[in-house]
Amino acid sequence: MREVKTYGLFVDGVERPSTTQSTFAVTAPADGTLVGWAARGNEVDVATAVTAARRAFPAWANLPPADRERHLLRAADLLEARAASLHDLIIDESGSTIRKARFEVSYSANLLRAAAGEARRLYGDTFPNDKPHRLSLVLREPLGVVAVVSPFNGPLVLLVKMVAFALAAGNSVIAKPSEETPLIAVALARILHEAGLPPGVFNVVTGYGAECGRPLIAHPNINGIAFTGSTATGVRIMQAAAPHMHRLQLELGGKNPLLVLADMDPESAADIAAAGAFFHGGQICMASARLIVEEKIARPFAEALARRAASLHLGDLRDERTAYGPLINAAALEKVQDHVATAVAAGAEQLTGGQVHEGLVFQPTVLWQPPHETAVWCEETFGPVVAVTAVPDLETAIALANESQYGLSAGVLTNNMVRGLTAARRIRCGAVHVGMHSFQSDALAPVGGFGLSGIGRSGGKYSIEHFTELKWISVELGEV
Ligand code: NAD
Repeated sequence: MREVKTYGLFVDGVERPSTTQSTFAVTAPADGTLVGWAARGNEVDVATAVTAARRAFPAWANLPPADRERHLLRAADLLEARAASLHDLIIDESGSTIRKARFEVSYSANLLRAAAGEARRLYGDTFPNDKPHRLSLVLREPLGVVAVVSPFNGPLVLLVKMVAFALAAGNSVIAKPSEETPLIAVALARILHEAGLPPGVFNVVTGYGAECGRPLIAHPNINGIAFTGSTATGVRIMQAAAPHMHRLQLELGGKNPLLVLADMDPESAADIAAAGAFFHGGQICMASARLIVEEKIARPFAEALARRAASLHLGDLRDERTAYGPLINAAALEKVQDHVATAVAAGAEQLTGGQVHEGLVFQPTVLWQPPHETAVWCEETFGPVVAVTAVPDLETAIALANESQYGLSAGVLTNNMVRGLTAARRIRCGAVHVGMHSFQSDALAPVGGFGLSGIGRSGGKYSIEHFTELKWISVELGEV
């Protein structure tokens, strides 16, 4: 039996209610039951958090890197020590399976450790000067107060990915998690606090996008923004941030191609494609969604993929066998249903799936040859639906992969490295994985997109670049 608790905002080292005392219910996508109550933060709460973060910033920025490193390493250990309760929260509020919840916690600990190492590597520079008596230094300094706005689908890992590197670089942070999954962010704040972060260095304001997220990113006293979420919200964030010139990093949506070349065994290619398409029910920005297959193996591949899809186990989220759980809410389910229905009406063949399994769980669905103007081919479906299309050759496959306004991640399945690398160099997106599907993570890799998939890169030194400013200091060595 789950114990239903009320979670506060986490501001200046203390958990507290919102100024209006209002809360909102967080429910489990799996069965609609109440998971907990979150504080409904607003403009006034945001202002309090900004004041706290501003106050905490100088001391945190000036802390020896070894101390920032120690706090982040301790947070990683605590995260692992609390794994069981974090798994429960992730499963309950986001509808993740136990396997996905484990991935979130272990990968978040990995990210914290990778970021801890970066705290020591805020390298500056020197350069040869045109003026003989001048010495020039380039210093790397933290931005100041950073706002982090995160989505529902990786409620812990995507938050930690932004927060850990921002903290490592010496910034103080205010996080605004998704209103669908706010509680795990408060749990993270408690852990960071226990790991020794001084009050105000990491704050969480929970609430709705318009009420709580917008005043945060439009606040004049923040200095930078890291956002992971949909392209539509990314555009709104850019507009709201523009008057203050807040530095922006945006990790947005994708409609990721997976090329399957003719040398592949259709059965093993289908195994890889199924993993890339159906993890977390396709609610992954990098999910493989457009499967572009050379004609010779296209139909056997699609049929093998449909067989795998149909055999995926759907059920209890705590059952190790369960492949994925519910979509996040009813609106997400409606969108998925609409994408499938319009594609079928336009002539796509439905090889498997197409129906609700139970509640918000949608069957794994494989569509054959939907017209390329249908939503399922060109818009983010964010559900367990893949579209397979046959192409005559590699040239056509690359051209089709690039026929998208998105450009987040791609995969190329082949054992022919010349063809694989040819595709990798010509596909227009932030990452291309040869021999693997499009959903890949690495703490040090530059993750981000082309086009509508966003601006900037996160991970390792690339995050540090985003979360720091460069300053040129020149010194005249002769008498002035
Ligand atoms: P969303 O854009 O609806 O919400 C993301 C966050 O923005 C939430 O915290 C929300 O409250 C906040 N928000 C909404 N309106 C706002 C406003 N006007 N000002 C400030 N904040 C506001 O996204 P979602 O539905 O939670 O997440 C799914 C989306 O995220 C998908 O499009 C997916 O592709 C994308 N995503 C991208 C990546 C990546 O690395 N590129 C990773 C995960 C998810």
